[in-house]
Amino acid sequence: MINLFNKLVIFFLPIIPKFIVRMVAKPYVAGPTLEDGIRVVKELNSKGISATMDVLGESARKLEECQEAIDDYFKVLDRIAADKLDANISVKLTQLGLTLDREQCYQNIRKIVDKADRLGIFVRIDMEDSAVTSETIELFLRINDEFKRTGIVIQAYLRRSLADVVRLSAHKTNYRICKGIYIEPRKVAFKDKQTVNDNFGLLVDTAFGMGSYVGIATHDERLYWKGLELIHKHKLTTGQYEYQMLLGVDEELRDIIVQAGHKLRVYVPFGKNWYAYCVRRLKENPMMAWYIVKAMFGLR
Ligand SMILES: Cc1cc2nc3c(=O)[nH]c(=O)nc-3n(C[C@H](O)[C@H](O)[C@H](O)COP(=O)(O)OP(=O)(O)OC[C@H]3O[C@@H](n4cnc5c(N)ncnc54)[C@H](O)[C@@H]3O)c2cc1C
Repeated sequence: MINLFNKLVIFFLPIIPKFIVRMVAKPYVAGPTLEDGIRVVKELNSKGISATMDVLGESARKLEECQEAIDDYFKVLDRIAADKLDANISVKLTQLGLTLDREQCYQNIRKIVDKADRLGIFVRIDMEDSAVTSETIELFLRINDEFKRTGIVIQAYLRRSLADVVRLSAHKTNYRICKGIYIEPRKVAFKDKQTVNDNFGLLVDTAFGMGSYVGIATHDERLYWKGLELIHKHKLTTGQYEYQMLLGVDEELRDIIVQAGHKLRVYVPFGKNWYAYCVRRLKENPMMAWYIVKAMFGLR
């Protein structure tokens, strides 16, 4: 049933009019402009929720394209500082040339992190598909060596992740731990949902045990509970962990987490490349369309 649904999504995607994609994507993307992103962050902040701002963009095909992403992030950083927002930024390294020239990508991310650091703003490096996991981690370690206000993402579906957490936690790495969004081959990723959830718990437990700060990024109520169990086990207080969710997803759970007194951060994607981004994400993982259909009909 789900497989057929996935095939249908990929088949019909190219002929779905842009305005329908915009309608469907609306709750999940703040809008095309920086002002849209800032407005949504202010709304979240007024409810006691922190944010991470993500400028939507495609993987750079030419190194010259990276400068636009750098300029966009500079503008975001200036606004976060000027408006004193409770927000940090999330950055994808392929937008900064990771697949074209690793050294140039390092120089590009360094420019963003250097500016953010001078403004006292934290930068998280998002994790993309498994073809770039090793490069992303190595580049993060270089950046983190110089700038402590930086963190990375670990995906619970990857078989390698436990070894990565053990290695990275020696540096007291600041993590976002999530299940992982890309479709990966069985060789590199666990395919069984329960195993992914068990691994998620193991990774958070290991990271907490080694003294790391973890952003527990999930909308899965079972993993929210697993987080509670581990926060209790490691006797953590607010300030030593946070929960993270995507904009527009399960706002009821969002309220439950905030009312329970936990720090919560919402991921706020925005930017003029929202259409290409939505189409790419849907092709990469048609399950997202399934989630959206469920949300539209109020199903759980
Ligand atoms: C703050 C944040 C940052 C992330 N960063 C990354 C990253 O850098 N790299 C990466 O690979 N993955 C990232 N992800 C995505 C993550 O890996 C998962 O794919 C996603 O969160 C779904 O997993 P889940 O734990 O919510 O559980 P699931 O079991 O997949 O979802 C639980 C329920 O939440 C709802 N839901 C979940 N995701 C969506 C969605 N996108 N749209 C609508 N409804 C949804 C559905 O109702 C679903 O039934 C991030 C997730 C979050 C919350």
